[in-house]
Amino acid sequence: MSQMHTDIQRYAQARPQYRDALSFLQNILDFQAALADKIEPDLQIEPAVAREKWEAGEPLFSGKSPAIPSPLFRQALAELRPLLPPGDVVQEVLDRLLTSELVVSSHLEKVLSDLITDSDACFRRLADAASTTPDTVAPLLRIVLSPFFEKPAALYREWIREAGWRRGICPICGSEPWMSRLDREHGERMLACSLCRTEWAFDRLRCPFCGGDDQPKVRYFNVDDDDAHRVDCCDRCLRFIKTVDERVAGRPANLPVEDVSTSHLDTLAREYGYH
Ligand SMILES: [Zn+2]
Ligand SMILES: [Zn+2]
Repeated sequence: MSQMHTDIQRYAQARPQYRDALSFLQNILDFQAALADKIEPDLQIEPAVAREKWEAGEPLFSGKSPAIPSPLFRQALAELRPLLPPGDVVQEVLDRLLTSELVVSSHLEKVLSDLITDSDACFRRLADAASTTPDTVAPLLRIVLSPFFEKPAALYREWIREAGWRRGICPICGSEPWMSRLDREHGERMLACSLCRTEWAFDRLRCPFCGGDDQPKVRYFNVDDDDAHRVDCCDRCLRFIKTVDERVAGRPANLPVEDVSTSHLDTLAREYGYH
C-alpha cells in the first residue's frame, strides 16, 4: 500500500467526519496519477535560462507554458465525471462544460495556454462556457489541469533551492500557494503550489499573498488544542493559508490529506472574513 493510502486510512480513522471526503480524495489522486501517465512533458528549459528567469523574479513557465492537448483534456474531463458525487451541482457544471462550444472547439488549446499568464481570464472563459462562476469551475479544472503542470514541473524542482526564490508565487508556474508546512528538521516554512504542487522556502511570518510581515496584522491561529495545524492569516489583504507543523505532528506532512481533514479550519477562517 502506498504512503498516500496509509495516510488516508489513518486520517479516516482519526477524523471519521472526513471519511467521505477522504475517499473522494483517494479517487481523485488515483485519477490524477492515471492522467499523469498519459502526459509527455514537452518543455526543455536549460539551467542558464532558468537562472536568468529566477534572477529576474519570473516563474519558469512564464511565456513558455506546457502544452495541454485538447483531446486529452476533454477525455480527462469525461473520465472525471463518474467520480463526482451523483446529482451534485459540480456534475451538472461538468456536463455543461463537456458539451460547451468552447471545450469542443479548436480554441480550447489557446484558452488553456493562457492559464499561466492570466489564470483568472482563463477560468472566467471556461466558467462562462459552463454557465457558472469561476469559483465553481476552478476546483474542477484544477483537478484535471494539475497533472499537466506537475509532471513537467518535477523536472526542474531540484534547481529551486539554489535559485534563492523569495516570492510568494510558485517559482515554476507562478500560481498562488495552496498550503504550507513547517519542516520537521529546522521548522523552515515551505509553501506548496496550488497547481503544479512544487514546494519552495518562504519566510515563516510573512504573508505570501501581499508580502506583509508586520505583526500583529500578519498572524496565525489554531483551534481545539491542535497545534500541528494552524491558519496563517493576514489583516492587510484578508487572505489565509493553512500550515502543518511537522515538528508537532512528528511526521512528514501529507498535504492533500491534511488539507481535506482540516476543512473545519477553512470554514472558520472564512467565518472570520478571510478568503
Ligand atoms: Zn506551480
Ligand atoms: Zn496579506
